[in-house]
Amino acid sequence: MKNRGFTTSIIHSDRLGKPEHGSLHKPIHTSIAFGYEKAEDLAAVFQGTAKGYAYSRQANPTVSALEQKITSLEQGIGSVAFSTGMAALAALLTALLRKGDHIVSSSFLFGNTNSLLNTLAGIGVEVTFVDATEVRHVEAALKPSTRMVLVETIANPATQVADMARIGALCESKGIMYAVDNTLTSPYLFLPKSVKATFSVNSLSKYFGGHGNALGGAVTDLGLYDWSTFPNILDIYKAPGNDPRMVALLQLRKKGLRDFGGTLAPEAAHTLSVGSETLALRMDRACGNAAKVALYLSSHPKVKAVHYPGLPAHPQHSLAKELFKRPGALLSFVLADGMDTFAFLNRLNLAICSSNLGDNRTLIIPVAQTIFFEMGAKRRAEMGIEDGMMRLSVGIEDSEDLLEDFGQALA
Ligand SMILES: *Cc1c(COP(=O)(O)O)cnc(C)c1O
Repeated sequence: MKNRGFTTSIIHSDRLGKPEHGSLHKPIHTSIAFGYEKAEDLAAVFQGTAKGYAYSRQANPTVSALEQKITSLEQGIGSVAFSTGMAALAALLTALLRKGDHIVSSSFLFGNTNSLLNTLAGIGVEVTFVDATEVRHVEAALKPSTRMVLVETIANPATQVADMARIGALCESKGIMYAVDNTLTSPYLFLPKSVKATFSVNSLSKYFGGHGNALGGAVTDLGLYDWSTFPNILDIYKAPGNDPRMVALLQLRKKGLRDFGGTLAPEAAHTLSVGSETLALRMDRACGNAAKVALYLSSHPKVKAVHYPGLPAHPQHSLAKELFKRPGALLSFVLADGMDTFAFLNRLNLAICSSNLGDNRTLIIPVAQTIFFEMGAKRRAEMGIEDGMMRLSVGIEDSEDLLEDFGQALA
């Protein structure tokens, strides 16, 4: 499948695993446990000397088919799926970091990831937040104990773009793990492997599944990090029989998934898998709509500012052009002074006031009053979030209808 196109590769991937009865989709295997005729075979699965399934908290055939699909899209060596994007991030950080380890994170971050890092700081992982749009800030924050750098491709809500290639080169030169949250771009718009990331993390709940009807997350090892000298892999996973390239994923599956139990349900895996078949089609359409809406809003007198990497005025416009196939379908804008935030939102007929993003439907939310409320005014100011800021996740509706809706609500 290597040389085939993105969509060809997604829609034919299940079939290549030869599901029973010539089924074109991987079936939904709801069984929690898997039985073996010979006890030795079950023992071999437990000991990792034979491939197979034992208990679905840790591995399930329907979920594995989705993991393979993600691995191939991300051009990685393997993936572990989770019940949500947050479960994926929490598992990644807790499975591979230890007390006293230091992580440098972009300060422009999904709010719940910001909260997760603060939770980890409370149990002994040291966290430094930096402006990752310039590599020098990341470099200045490094310490001998720095084990990981974490960034998002396009930050939510103000759409800052991390200086990912230069951060990747820096991490490579220092032997530091580099995790890129690819949720806002998806493997269709961007491959974290191209900037030498160790891991790509995806919330499958967003563009990947795309229909706003199933939660999921995944971590993909991109095969670039040398785990042989990494101190936090347990000896049992480094045993001679284990492929040395796969030890981090093995520990992630055992420590991050099995112990914490943030398992993706097979029904959700199936829904996400079907949704992903149209990822490229939806993304092209949504990005096209976002570009039109961003242009429209940026020249509207009732709008003070528009943040969208596709606009030439965006501070990382050229960086976004270098990195991404398209500048994404998420934007934010700030209403002109004196505009009533809630009254504006209540006038919208099409865009839905809702906290999700990456749905086929256009969703809008006032940021400071909702998703970034809990962190308080000081941290919001640091993250560049103004009180009149709206986050807009542009969907796949007909663009004329979207422009008409924003036009009448702003009038
Ligand atoms: C939504 C989101 C997450 C968390 O994903 P869930 O599936 O909602 O847990 C993580 N990172 C980013 C960038 C997101 O947008």
